[in-house]
Amino acid sequence: CSPIPSASFAISETTENNINWDTIINLDHGDPIMYESYWRKMGNKCDITLSGYQSLSYFANVKNLCWFLEPKLEEEIKRLHNLVGNAIVDDHYIVVGTGSSQLIQASLYALSPPNEPEPISVVSAAPFYSAYAEVVNFVKSGLYKWAGDAHNFVKNGSYIELITSPNNPNGVIRKPVVNGDEGILIHDLAYYWPQYTAITSPANHDVMLFTVSKSTGHAGSRIGWALVRDKEVARKMTKFMEISTIGVSKEAQLRAAKILGMICDSCLDPTLDNFFEYNKSVMIERWQRLRQVVKANDHFFTLPKYPLQYCLFTRSFYETHPAFAWLMCKGSEDDLEKLLKGHNILTRSGKKFGSDPKCVRLSMLSRDEDFNIFLQRLMVIQRVTNAN
Ligand code: PMP
Repeated sequence: CSPIPSASFAISETTENNINWDTIINLDHGDPIMYESYWRKMGNKCDITLSGYQSLSYFANVKNLCWFLEPKLEEEIKRLHNLVGNAIVDDHYIVVGTGSSQLIQASLYALSPPNEPEPISVVSAAPFYSAYAEVVNFVKSGLYKWAGDAHNFVKNGSYIELITSPNNPNGVIRKPVVNGDEGILIHDLAYYWPQYTAITSPANHDVMLFTVSKSTGHAGSRIGWALVRDKEVARKMTKFMEISTIGVSKEAQLRAAKILGMICDSCLDPTLDNFFEYNKSVMIERWQRLRQVVKANDHFFTLPKYPLQYCLFTRSFYETHPAFAWLMCKGSEDDLEKLLKGHNILTRSGKKFGSDPKCVRLSMLSRDEDFNIFLQRLMVIQRVTNAN
């Protein structure tokens, strides 16, 4: 059963006067509130209770290399990847983190050569996820340093390349860009899930990062996981976690395990709303409406186009419907973030992604109400700005 849009939206009826210009619509962060509607429908199926005596210990499984990983979470992560077919888990170690943000830092620590006179360069192809530059430079590490756009990187020895696929901000399916044989690769697969894109093969890289924030919508639980092929790298990542936070909240892990388990069940039990089908139809519907608005007014804005690919999980053809729209202004406006901000729509400028200020990234995962207001405003903005 597919979700029904909460508010009807007729382009021809929308005028400047009957839309709400006052509320600030924040599409800057990728806050995944869109998923609330699915989880509300699940009612109390994901409730967990913990008694006062439970989960006191620092340790979750001393036999595991990642000794703070809850066995139930490990089990459900494996079950979900095996069911969806988006990543090979069997010959990989699982390291849990406080969001995949912490795992980005842990993998940089673990993969950087420890005894070099100079920090190793870290690159990613522009437009790249804006947090990479911040995370890499934040503590001015002696191990690694941000070296910007991978397209412009002149390789000289080893380097680390962050590959985000589908990419944040522009949804493109990506491969490494630097053509060097001493590259150490980190694959950030936060969006490689069937609601966003076709699952074309199980990813099988040395270091792969995932997060519940973008797979299930539970960003507030702060749970991410890394699939790591090499034992020593997994051990160093675990050490990083031990030194920075002595593990990861057990309550959050147990809740995430329950949620991942529920998603698996929803794919196998026809009496339940299939999590991926449900949210995939929300994404399709939102993208259709956004494209309709953008098309309606003389192509003032443009959006990327994505190829149709066969999804092995849904057994159907699917185009990528990214969690963010990468909107570009074709008109004379040079600063699209500023233009939209002037209409109380907060987005993130292309500049922050190492790209053009004529582009912005905006979240497609907001609440229905906010998304509806955003579309109405966008339509009027392009009509009015175009006419001036
Ligand atoms: N990688 C990418 C590509 C992301 O978009 C995000 C979230 N915006 C993260 C990592 C971090 O996610 P988390 O909430 O798990 O820290």
